[in-house]
Amino acid sequence: MNFKKDVCVIGGGVMGLAAAYYLLKAGKTVVVLEKAEVGSGASSSCDDMILLQSKKPGIALTLAMESLEMYKELPDELGADIGFLSLGGMIIIEDEKQLKIMEDFVKQQVSYGLDVEIVGRDTLYKKQPHVARYMIASTYSATDSQVNPLLLMRAFLRNGINMGMDVLRYTPVQEINQTGDHWMVKGENGVNVECDSIVIAAGAWSAHIGELMGIDIPIRPIKGQVAVTEQIAPIGETNCWTAAYIASKHDPSIMPDRSEYDKEIGLGFAFSRTSEGNYLIGSTRENAGFDKTTNFKAIARMLEQTRQYFPIMNKVNIIRTMAGFRPGTKDGSPIIGEVDGFPGLFIAAGHEGDGVALSPITGKSVAEMVCGAGEHKRFDQLNLRRFSNN
Ligand SMILES: Cc1cc2nc3c(=O)[nH]c(=O)nc-3n(C[C@H](O)[C@H](O)[C@H](O)COP(=O)(O)OP(=O)(O)OC[C@H]3O[C@@H](n4cnc5c(N)ncnc54)[C@H](O)[C@@H]3O)c2cc1C
Repeated sequence: MNFKKDVCVIGGGVMGLAAAYYLLKAGKTVVVLEKAEVGSGASSSCDDMILLQSKKPGIALTLAMESLEMYKELPDELGADIGFLSLGGMIIIEDEKQLKIMEDFVKQQVSYGLDVEIVGRDTLYKKQPHVARYMIASTYSATDSQVNPLLLMRAFLRNGINMGMDVLRYTPVQEINQTGDHWMVKGENGVNVECDSIVIAAGAWSAHIGELMGIDIPIRPIKGQVAVTEQIAPIGETNCWTAAYIASKHDPSIMPDRSEYDKEIGLGFAFSRTSEGNYLIGSTRENAGFDKTTNFKAIARMLEQTRQYFPIMNKVNIIRTMAGFRPGTKDGSPIIGEVDGFPGLFIAAGHEGDGVALSPITGKSVAEMVCGAGEHKRFDQLNLRRFSNN
């Protein structure tokens, strides 16, 4: 099967589908090659947060804030329910050491324009009547939101197909060659795509795509396990994390004393209520290669921790567990932009634990870069070249 398109997108997760959608909107012809089912990677085995509070001031927070604004418009634009909710978020604080660090973190975010504050026990217990009584304070931000990544991908897919997008499932990319100013992408089952540009959006597998061209794309899988509860009535007003969760992302010094096992699985805590009433309980951060199995010991530890923070969860049933691979880079920031020396080759990958939040802004920005539209100087710091001397 031969295709001639403006752009070939490799990978059908939140990133590839968003990039394809914005490229089609800009008038490009697009084919998406996906090695398995669309959405079978991290984007269907993850939490659902558009979490602003976890981002350090700088490009990460700026992009998340812009993405949130886009999300507010997307249900209407895509003509679909994408499970977008703004329940707000709280980072619960266990001791004075965490409080001091969170006060500094919040101060930086406020000066950057984020609507977030530290609240005392009264507000915490009013908004979270079931949280453990030993908590001393919390952060609160009304802006933290969420989206259902499955509904989001379906909406991008449907809109894309309506705009003429081809999607080839079970078509892993096997070979990529540059001929003049064109690219030839070969997929399994005799698929050949001739195109002007390629967008690598293969998540945790993006390094494998780079290898096909001798390009080092330093992205590795960081496994996360999640437990899903039965549907229950809300047990609090907002979604919740712990200060230790923020620490596991940015500053290990806030971590409370932890067992060797908690360190080994990178135990964190994220607790969000979906629009259907199921709670998502996450998660781990493991160096486990591409092993996608969940395991009883890690899930049991996550649930034990959940009962410590929310004793009422003792009465709630878990209906399923899942594991996914965050596409992780060495500095925790995504790789977005054109690859030096390979005109027409773009990367939109490596978003680690923020890919759902950053999907629209990444898709739109990379589409503009492919089209040569707009000014994207700020993305220089996210280009692959930042790793070339490390
Ligand atoms: C436990 C967990 C919790 C998370 N929670 C959140 C959260 O609350 N908020 C948030 O913003 N983010 C969260 N994330 C991160 C988010 O899920 C990811 O950043 C995001 O899904 C990455 O999307 P992607 O499209 O880059 O990758 P993926 O969804 O992994 O998509 C990549 C696709 O490329 C395909 N592919 C691979 N190789 C090839 C090939 N050779 N040829 C063709 N196709 C190929 C794969 O099959 C896959 O479908 C979480 C992740 C995990 C694991």
